[in-house]
Amino acid sequence: MSQKQIALACSVCGSRNYTVAANPNRTTRLEVKKYCKHCNKHTIHRETR
Ligand SMILES: [Zn+2]
Repeated sequence: MSQKQIALACSVCGSRNYTVAANPNRTTRLEVKKYCKHCNKHTIHRETR
């Protein structure tokens, strides 16, 4: 598939725990609060490039 995937990395430890499909119409940087198994808690995850 040619669907682009971007990784969401934990802002605390930097682990890339999630991937989401890239939305070409979206211009803002993704910030999602998700569970990080390395930090053992919910942290802000940001998209990486
Ligand atoms: Zn983490």
